[in-house]
Amino acid sequence: MANFAGKKVLVLGGSRGIGAAIVRRFAAEGARVTFTYSSSQDAAQALAAETGSTAQATDSADRDAVIARVRDSGPLDVLVVNSGVALFGDALEQDPDAVDRLLRINVQAPYHAAVEAARQMPAGGRIIVIGSVNGDRMPVPGLAAYAVSKSALQGLARGLARDFGPRGITVNVVQPGPIDTDMNPADGPLKEMMHSFMAIKRHGSAEEVAGMVAWLAGPEAGFVTGAMHTIDGAFGA
Ligand code: NDP
Repeated sequence: MANFAGKKVLVLGGSRGIGAAIVRRFAAEGARVTFTYSSSQDAAQALAAETGSTAQATDSADRDAVIARVRDSGPLDVLVVNSGVALFGDALEQDPDAVDRLLRINVQAPYHAAVEAARQMPAGGRIIVIGSVNGDRMPVPGLAAYAVSKSALQGLARGLARDFGPRGITVNVVQPGPIDTDMNPADGPLKEMMHSFMAIKRHGSAEEVAGMVAWLAGPEAGFVTGAMHTIDGAFGA
């Protein structure tokens, strides 16, 4: 596979889970991939060595660092914003600083990264953000801040698609349901409850999500923009 030969791809949050699968997919298809990480330095270095990609430490909670990383990586053909965190617990008890940090990583970083990438992005460029089916459906308590953040990405895609569409740049959100990663292990305590909402009663794989991202980044998806693409075993149906 060499669908992205010569293309320059930046993945924010690529050291583990879905982000690592996206890095592997683009690298396998010939792209020049740079990815960021925050705390998982060993995993990031191993992935870079495995795939021939470049790992850069950049905290997605740090707006100016994110903007600088995107600027210095450009011009990009593809930007994928995958870094995200979840916060589970009673909304009345949650530390407001932790909520604000989540919003910096899950909302502010994607917004500023997308805008910064578009400054230098050529026609045909792709901006893809990893949201969540929880942007559409939040069937349990304790995850309101996370749901807020993933719903906000829907506005990001709709708005920035308008801003950048005339230049041939698309902006899309991929909305996974339960995916087997460190954030949501397939053998975790909530598995039965999550599967009870689903038509396909299993966790998805990070590679399945990476496949959707690759399609959105590819030549067949040039007319697809401002849209949410759900891959969730019908969790949200
Ligand atoms: P993981 O927790 O397994 O991995 C998260 C990745 O994001 C890691 O590479 C991590 O890097 C990076 N990251 C987190 N915080 C930061 C930060 N401050 N700066 C830079 N990188 C950061 O999560 P998943 O792979 O499961 O999730 C990836 C995305 O998919 C997230 O946006 C998540 O919300 C979304 N998602 C996941 C679902 C699931 O069921 N797994 C379902 C729906 C959406 P490091 O370790 O180096 O900090």
